[in-house]
Amino acid sequence: MALTTVNDTYNRPLRDVRVSVTDRCNFRCPYCMPAEIFGERYKFLPREELLTFEEIVRLVGIFVDLGAVKVRLTGGEPLVRKSIESLVEQLAGVEGIEDLTMTTNAYLLPSMAQTLKDAGLQRVTISLDSLDDEVFRKMNGRNFGVDTVLKGLEAAESVGLTPIKVNAVVQRGMNDHTLVDMARYFKERGHILRFIEYMDVGTLNGWRMDDVVSAAQIVSMIDAELPLEPIEANYHGEVARRYRYKDGTGEIGVIASVTQPFCGDCTRLRLSPEGSIVTCLFANVGTDLRGPLRAGASDADLAEIITRRWRVRDDRYSEERASMTDELRTREKVEMYHIGG
Ligand code: SAM
Ligand code: SF4
Ligand code: SF4
Repeated sequence: MALTTVNDTYNRPLRDVRVSVTDRCNFRCPYCMPAEIFGERYKFLPREELLTFEEIVRLVGIFVDLGAVKVRLTGGEPLVRKSIESLVEQLAGVEGIEDLTMTTNAYLLPSMAQTLKDAGLQRVTISLDSLDDEVFRKMNGRNFGVDTVLKGLEAAESVGLTPIKVNAVVQRGMNDHTLVDMARYFKERGHILRFIEYMDVGTLNGWRMDDVVSAAQIVSMIDAELPLEPIEANYHGEVARRYRYKDGTGEIGVIASVTQPFCGDCTRLRLSPEGSIVTCLFANVGTDLRGPLRAGASDADLAEIITRRWRVRDDRYSEERASMTDELRTREKVEMYHIGG
């Protein structure tokens, strides 16, 4: 139960926390960790710089006291962090978390789904950009086939890490011709598919507006084959706009961060693997908590640092994007693989 509520300058409370547990990943999706940059010699964070599980759990407890009710583990790829199930188990014991989830590329899920479920993970969001093997092999940058991810999805379903959401980033000329097939496939299986507009997170992916397929275009492509109608959000602040199939067999979501930004409802705080809090996906700096934490700060001291930062939060990057100069837009920004979405 939250002890206090803390609001930012736009009156947005702190509700969701995304905990990035590692900057490493077994994929090299070009829009996130281009293989030519993240090669063999790339220096990821050394182990001692990562927050320990005990440190993460302690900080999450403080976020919950300040109002957070949802916790999502992400990365990099959360399943490559050693003994991640132990973190899940400790977080499952934190009173006040209503939703404990993970975003994963699912590659390691077949062998880990049961352990994660037993540890207390409630559900998973699986990233899968296409069911077309050739397209997917390109989009994960490691030539992994679709079957590896589908096996992970089946494992998650069979152990009850449900409802499962599937996230697909849409890039023009890359996977946009495969969206309707995906929609049909997941409609038949009852999983919620969500299309994400390709975003200009970080500076390494060479993002161009021309590569973005708008949510409106995505919806109209699907609607032409599988008729859709809009439905209400599940809760205030839900980032995906929801549409249901008119034949009553399920729904899709579109996350229109570029063309229909939703900063006004953004209640998310990110915790980076080395212990900084980042108040916007497009921020250029975070606020260090690991330093004070390792120097002996009390929970009250840490809560004070977090509260002070949240109170002055005025982020609304996506709403400002259209009016930004290229120079401003491409200034130093946190990378997606570092803070996890
Ligand atoms: N590795 C895990 C995975 O891929 O599910 C978790 C971390 S990943 C950074 C979280 C989500 O961010 C994924 O669904 C991924 O597709 C999405 N993502 C990464 N870069 C993106 C970009 N430039 N635009 C939109 N979504 C992006
Ligand atoms: Fe890895 Fe996820 Fe980034 Fe792809 S999107 S490179 S799976 S962290
Ligand atoms: Fe939230 Fe920043 Fe995204 Fe706006 S741009 S929705 S403030 S993370």
